[in-house]
Amino acid sequence: MPGATPMMAQYLAIKADHPDALLFYRMGDFYELFFEDAVTAAAALDIALTKRGQHQGRDIPMCGVPAHSHQSYLNRLIAKGFRVAICEQTEDPAAAKRRGAKSVVQREVVRIVTPGTLVEDEFLDARAHNYLVALAEAAGRLGVAWLDLSTGDFQMQPAEAAGLDAVLARLRPGELLLSDRTDERVDLADALAPWRAVMTVQPAARFDSVNAERRLCAVYQVATLEAFGTFSRAELSAGGALVDYVELTQVGRLPQIRTPVRMTSGARLEIDAATRRSLELDRTQSGQRKGSLLGSIDRTVTGGGARLLAEWIGAPLTDPDAIAARQDMVQFFADGEPLRADLRQALGRCPELERALSRITLGRGGPRDLAAVRDGLGVAADLERLVAAHPALPPAEVSTALEACRGHDALVARLTAALADSLPLLARDGGFIAPGFHAPLDEQRQLRDQSRRLIAELEARYRDQTGIPGLKIKHNNVLGYFVEVTSTQAKKLEDASGGEFIHRQTLANQMRFTTTELADLERQITGAADRALATELELFDELVGAVVARADPVSRTAAALARLDVGAALAALAVDRRYVRPQVDRGLGFQVTAGRHPVVEAALADGTGFVANDCDLDPDHRLWLVTGPNMAGKSTFLRQNALIAVLAQAGSFVPAAAARVGAVDRLFSRVGAADDLAAGRSTFMVEMVETAAILNQATDRSLVILDEIGRGTSTFDGLSIAWACVEHLHDENRCRALFATHYHELTALAGKLPAVANHAMRVKEWKGEVAFLYEVGPGAADRSYGVHVGRLAGLPASVVARAEQVLRLLEEGESGSAAAKLADDLPLFAAALRPADPMLDQPPSSTRSDLEAALAEVDADELTPRAALDLIYRLKALLGA
Ligand code: ADP
Repeated sequence: MPGATPMMAQYLAIKADHPDALLFYRMGDFYELFFEDAVTAAAALDIALTKRGQHQGRDIPMCGVPAHSHQSYLNRLIAKGFRVAICEQTEDPAAAKRRGAKSVVQREVVRIVTPGTLVEDEFLDARAHNYLVALAEAAGRLGVAWLDLSTGDFQMQPAEAAGLDAVLARLRPGELLLSDRTDERVDLADALAPWRAVMTVQPAARFDSVNAERRLCAVYQVATLEAFGTFSRAELSAGGALVDYVELTQVGRLPQIRTPVRMTSGARLEIDAATRRSLELDRTQSGQRKGSLLGSIDRTVTGGGARLLAEWIGAPLTDPDAIAARQDMVQFFADGEPLRADLRQALGRCPELERALSRITLGRGGPRDLAAVRDGLGVAADLERLVAAHPALPPAEVSTALEACRGHDALVARLTAALADSLPLLARDGGFIAPGFHAPLDEQRQLRDQSRRLIAELEARYRDQTGIPGLKIKHNNVLGYFVEVTSTQAKKLEDASGGEFIHRQTLANQMRFTTTELADLERQITGAADRALATELELFDELVGAVVARADPVSRTAAALARLDVGAALAALAVDRRYVRPQVDRGLGFQVTAGRHPVVEAALADGTGFVANDCDLDPDHRLWLVTGPNMAGKSTFLRQNALIAVLAQAGSFVPAAAARVGAVDRLFSRVGAADDLAAGRSTFMVEMVETAAILNQATDRSLVILDEIGRGTSTFDGLSIAWACVEHLHDENRCRALFATHYHELTALAGKLPAVANHAMRVKEWKGEVAFLYEVGPGAADRSYGVHVGRLAGLPASVVARAEQVLRLLEEGESGSAAAKLADDLPLFAAALRPADPMLDQPPSSTRSDLEAALAEVDADELTPRAALDLIYRLKALLGA
């Protein structure tokens, strides 16, 4: 680089290797950023932009963050979607100086921090996974691999273009890797769109499946991956690219990565992005965890447990046997008092084992991470004792977990003996090895501490000898140890000593001296302290080595602890909230007796006000049309059944008196006219796109929840669409479905389609007021009661009265069986063409009441407020007559 200083030349060379990352260039106690990076980072972090020297005749913009507090800056940059390359000084500046005055300290990038490769607790949500996801294609198929670098969790699955959206919604990638070629695929554009901000596009060469397989075999030191499962080329390609990327960002270091688990297609209940949003599985529509299903049922006490529960809820099972195994565990803990409470208490003491282990294997662990391993494994041993002391025999899921908790006694004993009571964050701060663990270290420390005592003795002797009681021996980083007296006493000191005190420094009020004796002592002290620290660091490396050697069993223990936590947490939930064990089978039924909505019920103050409802779908009556006024509880009823299916297949108990669920393969939930203006599509368009997806994908094993589909357009349009959808679901998809609608005209379909059954939200009418009972009963709602809701909502009385009048006229206009007729003779809604407006203005006199006649005479536009009030009195009088 012509004209660049040696340091700038080094900087530019390193920066050239990391064009897409901000370069944190270590200079002493700071990380500095230069040029464009500095401009970008200063703006993103809101810190001062300065300059440092010139390059090619122009000022070099610069900004910096202190090394000791750089994490919080990093955190903010990562959260804003930046990648950061951390460049450290890799030699002692003194060594560089020895090479020559002008030589630059060696520096290297030691890590690239990206959103998907974080392992530090301060970056991560303890209760959520942070997945690095890779999407690859080979031989015309797609494959997805995902890894949580902070826990080592590694899985792969095949995917299809149509289902990619659901897979990504389930994983919610922290970072998504894909090749430039895959990125260009038009058929994937919609599925990828929500993840653009976290996408890292790489050259296609990095996704070569043959290389990938070789990479993976090397990681696990096996000749073939068959022992782990039969992976497609696309899956291997994704998995290989992932491991490659981790190595790239960790600059050669690989963390503990568990053996890959293959998720076969069909093994999980498929839930697409729109359904997740609509059911608020792990966050509400506004993005909060609180108020979501997960937020409402999560009783786990460890981070690992919380992450696993999120996984169970996010991807429920489909195999009844696997589900039963989880239920057995929940049952065991639900029945097992006081075991459940004791176990949960023990787990509550369990530190973040998975993430501590991951940092240790990445060479980024500290003494506290070693302690976390010790304590986590200690808790594992406690759990085993607790269960052994419990009289009932544990089910397979529990005993397998406990088996994975065994075998760490030697490691725990070693860590226990080695670690001191209070531990520094970083190994280089020293002081973390317990006294008595290592004799040479004890000696070095003794020497160090003894020398400190010698300093005190020396100070006392000098005071005596000079007759200056204020004389002090002090220490700072520049001078080391020195003797300090006030300026007025300096003369006395120099006189008394006969040249023994050598002047070092004059300050405003003090003078500082040294002596040969003090310098010797200092060498002894720093020597002993350095040796003690070096010994500690060696011991640290040995302990890290001992943990790394057992990384695999320790990580299995961590996974087992998470499982037990989830089992006990779901049991605690079931007991507290009176949930029951559902029977999940291979049938096509869905019978829930006295079901409740898990979130709405919990939100009601005492949980008793919730009205339970049955739901009974089977092949003969697989499609329920649920009608009823707005606010009567239709949506709540629909969702509660979808959530019961999710809970049941996740292995949890469910809020009901009894439940039998024929395992669902895909769950769909749509609400009419959801607002998605952000995505730039009209609400009705969204509704139709989502509905199309259901009609194209639902199978006879699926469960479909449709709430007010067709609401987003004009009445007759909407009614027609809703009508045709019901027919399609009934004839083609043949799935189980709950279809809520305020178009009570649709209920006529029950007479035409054999597997359609009408159900309605019951309401009580009394003196013109409507009370919602929140009960679902057989039959159809006779009308929609929207006007009453309008009254409740505070519409002006005149508007309500007018609306009631119009409604009555409309209903009379239908002269009874218009809707029933519709069912028989399509094309639809010939009746819809009847002229509505003239009828409103001129209702047939034969059907008019006196009240209506009086109203018909009124010219509303001409009424003064006073006249309107009079009118109301008159009308009320007529009503009374
Ligand atoms: P709809 O879909 O018919 O307009 P919602 O399902 O949104 O009605 O219910 C409206 C409100 O009624 C809910 O917010 C809830 O507070 C209450 N609610 C619904 N179902 C029940 C129930 N089963 N028991 C008690 N309250 C309920």
